[in-house]
Amino acid sequence: MISWKEIKQLLEYGNEDHWVSTLSLNIDGRRFPKRKEFMVVLKNLLKQTRTDLESKTLAPEVRQSIEEDLKKMEGYLGNRFERNHHRGVLIYSCSQKGLWLPLAFPVPLRSKLVVLPHPYTLPLTALLDQYPKYAVVLVSQERARIFEVYLGEIIEHSEIYDEIPGKVHDPSSKEYKSMEEYGLAERRIERRGRRSETGTGGYSESAIYGLAERKIERHVGTHIRQHLKRIADTTFAFFKDHRFDWLIVGGQEENRSGFEETLHHDLKERIIGRIKSDPKLSLPEVYEETLKLIQEVEWSQKDQLVKQIAEANQPYGLGVFGVMPTLHALGQGAVQTLVVQDNVELPGARCPSCGHLNMGDSACPECGSPTDPVADLVEETIEQAISQSAQIVYVPRHPILEQSGGMGALLRYQPAKNTNLAKGAA
Ligand SMILES: [Zn+2]
Repeated sequence: MISWKEIKQLLEYGNEDHWVSTLSLNIDGRRFPKRKEFMVVLKNLLKQTRTDLESKTLAPEVRQSIEEDLKKMEGYLGNRFERNHHRGVLIYSCSQKGLWLPLAFPVPLRSKLVVLPHPYTLPLTALLDQYPKYAVVLVSQERARIFEVYLGEIIEHSEIYDEIPGKVHDPSSKEYKSMEEYGLAERRIERRGRRSETGTGGYSESAIYGLAERKIERHVGTHIRQHLKRIADTTFAFFKDHRFDWLIVGGQEENRSGFEETLHHDLKERIIGRIKSDPKLSLPEVYEETLKLIQEVEWSQKDQLVKQIAEANQPYGLGVFGVMPTLHALGQGAVQTLVVQDNVELPGARCPSCGHLNMGDSACPECGSPTDPVADLVEETIEQAISQSAQIVYVPRHPILEQSGGMGALLRYQPAKNTNLAKGAA
């Protein structure tokens, strides 16, 4: 999994005299059902790049490093890479500096290979903007664990709670259990509670226990509150370092609410849901419950976005539906958020003189020049949206979007009229 630290390192790269090979490749299974089919595209890119490099003046060690990058990319994608549900890959490599960063995305990327004295980061920054980072905090009266969910993967960072006073490191796991005063007090109560429940003691004994219990409960209550407050403070410190977008809180309800009460208001606003998972669960169990919640939240955000576009899809409104109106708006740099339905796949055409994309007319509707065919219009559309730093949202099947050719956009401003296009038509 890519960490924010790695991305930052990559973005800061390039002040030194090292060349970086950047590959973006469309691996969409609908267009390339078999590995060897996208490997053909890659092999052509490798060949072209090698030819282009021959005419360049480069130091021998730079040339060697680039050649190693290209070989590594071919070996990785040809053998080890697992496509799963992904449709685009982005790989950064600089063998000389030990940089190797392969990333897979659910959107099809335009295939291209770029070798520059710095990484080609535009697609990465545009794509990363689309992916929110989630933090999951699980709390109980004696423990806490924290996870980060990003780009579809989960990573545990529970070591941040290690420094919470009153806790010790359990070397057998990545979890940290509380001990000392309140941990012990809690266990003591448990024992006494059980004993008085059995009712075997005489009335005087249980009365004494009752009193002692109440006293200890108050004591424990304070300690638990302090424990939850410390977790909340540590979580806020983690937030300042890691900048997650959304927070999910897990645990028993009383512990969750105790934790949330003491949470910094910046974090309270970021809570998007609650789960029952407590710190005792295994990583896959936590992940399963978390993913389910994230999918629900993301679906409802996407649904709202489509409805927002539908409301704005009227004369002089800032929403468009349909392939042609969307491409027209994109051609004018007017797209703020591009929405593409998952299952859309269309061939199209691209104008070599003005760059306009359309569904396949032989002449460009914008400037009248003859157009070149493109195999995947969605890939081209995403590439253009990336180059304009527009937001790209991939939506699973949606009834409104389905009726509109599977494409739509929220606009920054009203694009100039084009009489060839009827607004709202697919
Ligand atoms: Zn044109």
